[in-house]
Amino acid sequence: MSRPVVASLDLQALRQNLTVVRSAAPDSRVWSVVKANAYGHGIDRIWSALNDTDGFALLNLEEAILLRERGWKGPILMLEGFFHADDLPLYDQYRLTTSVHSNWQLKALQNAKLNAPLDVYVKVNSGMNRLGFTPDKIHTVWQQLRAMKNVSDMTLMSHFADAENPDGIAEPMAKIEQAAEGLDCPRSLSNSAATLWHPEAHFDWVRPGIVLYGASPSGKWQDIANSGLKPVMTLSSEIIAVQNLKPGDTVGYGRLYKAQQEQRMGIVACGYADGYPRNAPDGTPVLVDGIRTGAIGRVSMDMLAVDLTPCPQAGIGTPVELWGKEIKIDDVASRCGTVGYELMCALALRVPVVTV
Ligand SMILES: *Cc1c(COP(=O)(O)O)cnc(C)c1O
Repeated sequence: MSRPVVASLDLQALRQNLTVVRSAAPDSRVWSVVKANAYGHGIDRIWSALNDTDGFALLNLEEAILLRERGWKGPILMLEGFFHADDLPLYDQYRLTTSVHSNWQLKALQNAKLNAPLDVYVKVNSGMNRLGFTPDKIHTVWQQLRAMKNVSDMTLMSHFADAENPDGIAEPMAKIEQAAEGLDCPRSLSNSAATLWHPEAHFDWVRPGIVLYGASPSGKWQDIANSGLKPVMTLSSEIIAVQNLKPGDTVGYGRLYKAQQEQRMGIVACGYADGYPRNAPDGTPVLVDGIRTGAIGRVSMDMLAVDLTPCPQAGIGTPVELWGKEIKIDDVASRCGTVGYELMCALALRVPVVTV
């Protein structure tokens, strides 16, 4: 039989999370963000569970084309716009909404030979300082685009650097206000954090990503525990070996863990080559047979060790949840100094995925 590690995706949870988003932002339309292959879940597997969305947002042409080939006829927003002028014929063919964040893109749009004009999202840099025009440039850019025969509907977009903090959007909102002055334009500003926590930033279209997959934009599960959001991905495996340690015995590479007393320990078929973080410290939560215990020793490529002291009944073949419904991905991530986003995106190709 095959190796027991598997990622199962709860499509009902995904649908429910979209409903939670809709009730958080009842007057806005929703771009469901499915970049990075739907945050590691697989666009092809999950998109139809989200077909109640108003649009999909992502940034790879291949992923946009896949959605069109699967039959999605609604809007697709390319969050970073075209990367090269010669992407534009594909934008035209597949009817993609492009973001525009740099001057070279204006020229490229101006010069493109398109069959029909494209919808454009004009990006304001509101303080993230990655992409976008500064607020003082927006008026000129807007007029230039407005005058182009290749441009249809226009929306002002921005992306917050710090929306998980209560006072994290005041300054960016002032910049966006400055940029929008006199434009009477639709706006799309809110990522997951702003969708949940800053209703004043909702406007016409919100752009939630991480909350659709049931993890917290702040990295803390506690912050969304009462929101109705449900984890979509469960990474599970089984115990494939049991060791009885004597005091002084060590576990795994580098002998990082040393037993203080007699201790039963299980080896789980899951390692960093599956996407489990190698730097998970002792005590990173793991569910064994429904009981919470902790990882011990260094995570290896294909295996990790867990303390079986709290679950003496566990043995070979006992089911293990690495993250999912019970062990929140945010809790694993925070132990490892990262966020749920990174862990879900890093799920390895070799892990079989099933949808339920
Ligand atoms: C990734 C992304 C989002 C979604 O962010 P979450 O924090 O996952 O909700 C929204 N807008 C832009 C431009 C993005 O790049």
